Amino acid sequence: MDLSQIINELGEDRESYFGAVAPPIIQTSNFAFKNVAQLREAMQDEFAVDLYSRGNNPTVTILRKKIAALDNAEDALVLSSGVAAVFLAVFANVKQGDHIVSVAKPYSWTDKLFNVLLPRFGVTATMIDGTNIENFERAIQPNTKIIFLESPNSFTFELQDLEAVARLAKSKRLLTIIDNSYCSPLYQRPLDFGIDISVQTATKYLGGHSDVIAGVIAGKKEMIEKIFKSDLLTVGSIISPFNAWLLIRSLRTLEIRLERIAQSTQHIAQFMENHPMVEKIYYPFSPSFPQYELAKKQMKQSPGLFTVVLKVNSIQAVEKFCNSLKHFLMAVSWGGHESLIFPSCAVIKPEDFNQEIAAHRMVRFYIGLEGVDYLVGDIEGAFAGL
Ligand SMILES: *Cc1c(COP(=O)(O)O)cnc(C)c1O
Repeated sequence: MDLSQIINELGEDRESYFGAVAPPIIQTSNFAFKNVAQLREAMQDEFAVDLYSRGNNPTVTILRKKIAALDNAEDALVLSSGVAAVFLAVFANVKQGDHIVSVAKPYSWTDKLFNVLLPRFGVTATMIDGTNIENFERAIQPNTKIIFLESPNSFTFELQDLEAVARLAKSKRLLTIIDNSYCSPLYQRPLDFGIDISVQTATKYLGGHSDVIAGVIAGKKEMIEKIFKSDLLTVGSIISPFNAWLLIRSLRTLEIRLERIAQSTQHIAQFMENHPMVEKIYYPFSPSFPQYELAKKQMKQSPGLFTVVLKVNSIQAVEKFCNSLKHFLMAVSWGGHESLIFPSCAVIKPEDFNQEIAAHRMVRFYIGLEGVDYLVGDIEGAFAGL
């Protein structure tokens, strides 16, 4: 389906709400029925009807249809956070004694799910370097159920070959799940490569204004129904109608926001790569990136994020550079209108800084919607102060 149609029309039924261009926020917990027969029918299949807003809600349903179409999926779920999406997609598909093969260095709370939370229930995980398909083959055990991917990840951007992993998983009857937050479905559609379930945080690009926490799952209808009926209704990590409405609002500009972000990022990443104070850059669409060819093959763009290693010899210099930036805010997260930096030395004690460890001198950049010259000027100013 055409992207413009998805963003502007799909799921919307303006005639049923006074011709309003923006859909109503159906702020209700509950739905009433005319007679016992209708209620009985609704109770039979909560997946298909509006019964109670822990299941379906009409405002959320508009968003859900758009999300499914963006991912070229049969159906989707919209949840209260990205981690709720990761949790439900995984949890609905494992039982005690099962095993998961996951890429190393996924999103930090995904790592915690696999290595702290699920082991409490007898589900184990092997974390592997996903840049080589043989590592997946070697890690698969007789009790493996899921291969979990995140391509690229959001700090050093290692990729997995989605087509190759999907082929391997199919041959072993394993379920594949990917966290596709970095690219969003506009720039990478994992289901088209044969991946079973695509999850994303909607807090980042889909929301885009740094005012909503949400997450999405997309896949086959049968799978979405399974996650909905047993796990979502039990866990209850739903999105509110108001937050769903904010996301519908945000989707109107998703395409142009991402175009601008991708273009600015390409430009600023190139500027950084050529700067004498930058030792190394991690950016999938730079020809110097080890998986550049694969990135070009499976991603349409490489928007927003890149990480640089600063060529400095003290933690004070890293901190001075970061503290001098005036237009980049210092924060976790990304995907909003505002440009951000996150220095990795923020997670170590200053006395543990080691000049020899490149990771201690890393700064992740997120490029938002500001003008390129405005941002480059800010970076130049911060470098000049060193
Ligand atoms: C932010 C993020 C998440 C978690 O999303 P929340 O909406 O914050 O729960 C998951 N994966 C990646 C790659 C992220 O960047």
